[in-house]
Amino acid sequence: MSGLAADGLPALREVIARHGLTAKKGLGQNFLLDLNLTARIARVAGPLAGVTVVEIGPGPGGLTRALLAGGAARVIAIERDARCLAALAEISAHYPGRLELIAGDALKVDPAAYLPSPRNAPVRIIANLPYNVGTELFVRWMTPETTQGRWPPWWDSLTLMFQREVAERIVARPGSGAYGRLSVLAQWRARARIAFDVNPGAFTPPPKVTSSVVHVVPAEPLAEVAPGLLERVVAAAFAQRRKMLRQSLKTRFDNPLALLEAAGIDPTRRAETLSIEEFLALCRAVEARG
Ligand code: SAM
Repeated sequence: MSGLAADGLPALREVIARHGLTAKKGLGQNFLLDLNLTARIARVAGPLAGVTVVEIGPGPGGLTRALLAGGAARVIAIERDARCLAALAEISAHYPGRLELIAGDALKVDPAAYLPSPRNAPVRIIANLPYNVGTELFVRWMTPETTQGRWPPWWDSLTLMFQREVAERIVARPGSGAYGRLSVLAQWRARARIAFDVNPGAFTPPPKVTSSVVHVVPAEPLAEVAPGLLERVVAAAFAQRRKMLRQSLKTRFDNPLALLEAAGIDPTRRAETLSIEEFLALCRAVEARG
């Protein structure tokens, strides 16, 4: 028989066994069972007292428990796997009024709709993301204009577990092989860093690759551009990253040569050599064309 963990709830292995939570690969289920590790992830987000946390994919609740034990005023957790809900309800009962469970697909639920209005507490997104939807969610959070039309966004920071390779793309600098769409979208108006790596063996079942916890905080944009424009420019530039920009931009923009000239960029360069400031100059050239 398992004893209780330090937070007074049963050990996660016992929770998983009792609720029959065998991991489903299709849902990106790689669970963290070590509450010391989930507490370490929670700490990356800073002190949680008075904070509202949005968690995507709580699963059996290892990270959720760390967030609540760490003092989060409220956790809004969105979980797609209905099998996890009974296990999560036990956590909710242990922390009355602090855990709100939303059964659904994080790609379809807008967490901002569940935040208190008016906003009276910081909101942090903290999650061990399902890998199959992690990048898509990250891009949405970095581009709130598509749904909410403003920056800074509705969240105050992101603390997210990704595959190491995705984390490297988020923080990559120009000229590196990892530099791409995610780097530009993350860095033109936010500061992003990798907090630490997590070995496959920390998860049940272990994934094939190393993971990393990334921390992102919104910042002043390096320049203002029309909503959605930078995404369009970057998507075109990196869709064919081995090609010269005069070629790759053709897929979405007329006369790329004139645009590149107006932005002061050599048309034979490739997307991965452009600084974020140069991408923004390209956006200004598109805007100036009207
Ligand atoms: N947070 C738990 C932990 O750290 O042990 C579980 C993390 S596991 C990597 C990802 C979780 O996201 C799973 O519980 C899975 O069921 C859930 N999930 C997968 N796709 C989802 C989606 N589209 N919306 C919400 N949750 C999803």
